[in-house]
Amino acid sequence: MNFLTGSLSVFLLISAIGWTSSPASNANAVQNVSELMSSIPEELKNLPYAVYPTSPEYNTDRFIANKRFSLYPHAIIAPRTQEEAVFVFNSLKKHHLDFAIRGGGHCYEPASLSSGYVVDLRNFNQITPNVSKQEVNIGAGCRLGDVIATLGKLDYAIPTGTCPRVGVAGLSLGGGIGMLSRTYGLTCDSVLSITLLNAEGKVIEVTKDSYPDLFWALRGAGNGSFGIVLGFTFRMHHIPKVTYYELTWDWNPTTVPQIIKTWQKWIQTLPDTITSQLRMRYSKEKMEIGVAGLKISDVPFDEWEKVFKDLKPEVKVVAGRYVDSSKYWTESHSFPFFKMKSNIILEPLSDQVIDKLVSFYATLKNDKPDLHVLFDFDTMQGKVLQGSSAFFPRNALTWWYQGVYWDDEKLTADALRYSRQFFAEIAPDVSKYCYANTVDYDLGDHYLDAYYGTNVERLIQIKTKYDPENIFHWKQSIPVK
Ligand SMILES: Cc1cc2nc3c(=O)[nH]c(=O)nc-3n(C[C@H](O)[C@H](O)[C@H](O)COP(=O)(O)OP(=O)(O)OC[C@H]3O[C@@H](n4cnc5c(N)ncnc54)[C@H](O)[C@@H]3O)c2cc1C
Repeated sequence: MNFLTGSLSVFLLISAIGWTSSPASNANAVQNVSELMSSIPEELKNLPYAVYPTSPEYNTDRFIANKRFSLYPHAIIAPRTQEEAVFVFNSLKKHHLDFAIRGGGHCYEPASLSSGYVVDLRNFNQITPNVSKQEVNIGAGCRLGDVIATLGKLDYAIPTGTCPRVGVAGLSLGGGIGMLSRTYGLTCDSVLSITLLNAEGKVIEVTKDSYPDLFWALRGAGNGSFGIVLGFTFRMHHIPKVTYYELTWDWNPTTVPQIIKTWQKWIQTLPDTITSQLRMRYSKEKMEIGVAGLKISDVPFDEWEKVFKDLKPEVKVVAGRYVDSSKYWTESHSFPFFKMKSNIILEPLSDQVIDKLVSFYATLKNDKPDLHVLFDFDTMQGKVLQGSSAFFPRNALTWWYQGVYWDDEKLTADALRYSRQFFAEIAPDVSKYCYANTVDYDLGDHYLDAYYGTNVERLIQIKTKYDPENIFHWKQSIPVK
């Protein structure tokens, strides 16, 4: 739903905020507000729930978390009710206007941005748990941090990712991997029902019984392809007690490969109650490696000792309520610019690949002192294997994500070059699959196969059935036949 045409050849200045100062964004910053405004259809003008180029919030709201992308929408429209959402969608459809759908605005690429219109779900922000039914209704504009806190007070949870600012909608529609995945499956595996504003402009309730094919597709391939999701009902899980654990080491070129190999073997022996993350972090010329995760049980966590003790980690083990543990494992960063790439790891990495990875990582200190880099591996398997939906890499051993972060826009070209260079070097040694929620426009035409593998044909059929005119489209959406 993104297009970059229409508003570039114009001349009034929209006061750009700090991070839009590159030559490219300065070109974009020169905009004709009145031209943008005058091309908005009458019925979409002066909506009390929209931000226009003339609104004071415009230069904040037109961005998502990643400030690499600077687009100038005609309006960011945030309906407050189903009726308003239906009205806005039908109006955009009637006038053939391009639009993007935004949940929490944490897409890694500009899929929730548009030079046309943005339909922002932020006002669908209710979280309504029902303990007796063990279900929770969550609006499509909610963020993970609020969900973890609200359900956590009741000692309940749904599986989420680890960044509290990420939106429930984007996460669930693409899968959702995190600290509870091995025990309860992906976020999308706990979805019971999805309230969808479809291509006909109708609000429907999508469940395994009402629309089995659409229900399958929306859970893993649902981002911006089948309709505007207004809310979800999830099965919530009672979690009385957990243990958070963290083993850390300073960077030592001799022990680092050993830690990685040991971790890879260890995770294959773990019960479903234990989830683990291998973290390699580089920041401000400091490198660290660590293993962290959760045990969902009231039995003490001692599984690490036999395996890791001889490697002498610094150890933190904290038992308590799930909601309290989240202060250790939720992470949000404040970098304005970032690039993420991912691989789905199906087999343990060989010793040669580990050596290659460690050597490449070790060059950061000398070559890229101003970048912040993480190479993290999240365990999958456990209950993830049992789910059934459009999320393709069900049998993955781990999800590996490689993130580069930076503060200064001048570093952008170098940071992107670094990210791509590493990815190109490692690509021959790993699977061709990526996690659909690590949206990566570098994948080009290969994206369907990379995200959805053998599910592609079925997804195209379902897309063609429910959105034959391809109203819901963006650069990497599911195409029609
Ligand atoms: C800092 C950070 C940490 C992350 N950590 C994790 C993690 O631990 N685990 C994990 O699995 N993933 C993680 N992710 C990836 C994350 O799941 C995806 O980026 C996700 O798509 C973001 O959702 P959002 O709603 O915040 O984003 P948005 O930018 O709002 O949307 C992302 C995509 O979903 C579509 N979309 C959003 N809302 C709707 C809706 N209501 N209806 C239809 N389509 C919609 C958008 O159009 C877009 O295509 C992380 C991302 C970031 C930036």
